[in-house]
Amino acid sequence: MELTLQLKLLPTDDQSTALRATMARFHEACNWLAARAFAQQCANKLTLQRLYDYELRTMFALPVQMVVRCLARVAGTYRRDKTICPTCRSEAAMPYDQRMMRGDGLDHVSLSTLTGRVLVSFVLGPYRRPRFDAYEPRQCQLVVRSEGQWFLLVVVQVPEGTPCPPTDFLGVDLGVVNLAATSDGTTHSGAGVEACRTRYARRRQRLQWAAHRAQRAGKRPKNMRRALQRTARRASRFRQDTNHRIRKTLVAAATGNGYGIALEDLKAIRRRTRFRKPQRAWMTGWGFAQLRFFVEYKAQLAGVQVVLVDPKYTSQQCSVCGHIAKANRRSQALFSCQACGYPAHADGNAALNIRYMALVNAPLVAGRVPQLWLLGDVGASDKLRHFSASSH
Ligand SMILES: [Zn+2]
Repeated sequence: MELTLQLKLLPTDDQSTALRATMARFHEACNWLAARAFAQQCANKLTLQRLYDYELRTMFALPVQMVVRCLARVAGTYRRDKTICPTCRSEAAMPYDQRMMRGDGLDHVSLSTLTGRVLVSFVLGPYRRPRFDAYEPRQCQLVVRSEGQWFLLVVVQVPEGTPCPPTDFLGVDLGVVNLAATSDGTTHSGAGVEACRTRYARRRQRLQWAAHRAQRAGKRPKNMRRALQRTARRASRFRQDTNHRIRKTLVAAATGNGYGIALEDLKAIRRRTRFRKPQRAWMTGWGFAQLRFFVEYKAQLAGVQVVLVDPKYTSQQCSVCGHIAKANRRSQALFSCQACGYPAHADGNAALNIRYMALVNAPLVAGRVPQLWLLGDVGASDKLRHFSASSH
């Protein structure tokens, strides 16, 4: 599995000038070579090298390794579509291979330019850092973004299933009416499971009575016990199947978006009293433990991080303003904030709370919060601030 790490480079003004000049020259050479390749309908790197190696080195004064990169890029791009002459913008990404880029300690990288190597310092998020140390970089690209911000995009190879640092969390609220509600607005109704459970309970009762009657009449109630076992197995398969389907959707949603999954801490769920007693009993017996096990297990295989948050107040707190009140939860399905009037689906609101708590509490979070601000998600950062304040 390949992972791209983004290093923000902090070049001095001189270094920045050198990098910019190198980049411009490299792209100039690429465009020049591309025109030659197009004219001769040649996408072969070695042929191009034989023909133009000298000119690239003398006319453009490119270091040897940059000539190699230039030839590779032009040949590769032209091969993809021979009907057009490839061109690149003067500020397009520039490939750097291991001979042009060398890590120097954990905060400097040595980059080759037209005027020799420059030692540029960089910043790397604390969670990316271990990855940068542990794995050999495969390829890099030097990019400059608006306002002269320099980045080195480093592709590293990591073992399959290595947890990616999540960019966000999928909050999941587990319940009875809705087996699972997520912070992205999906709900998985528990109606089917509930119907199955009721059917099973009724049948069980009927069979038990029948067995009892048979026993009193002096017959062996063997068939009935078997029928009872069959029903139990069927119900168990149904539960397993339902949980697997939910698990699949949850893990797919998380992998697809690069999210982690935030669940409520199961032990705390048992302590929670928001459920009526009969529900509490069957909840622990049926859905939760298994669903959570499936989600955790499969998420781990898929490299999705799972965090557990304390479910305290998740159902009473407003996910917009953070106001906590029992009265916020109007009914099983409806949430209505007493402070800001925010109306919501009760389980969806809880799922959002779980997501925010994961963002605040997860070990990954420190580096993440500013990123939310960068994305302009002001609402979320306000909520985050509130959560940090209220959790201490
Ligand atoms: Zn509110």
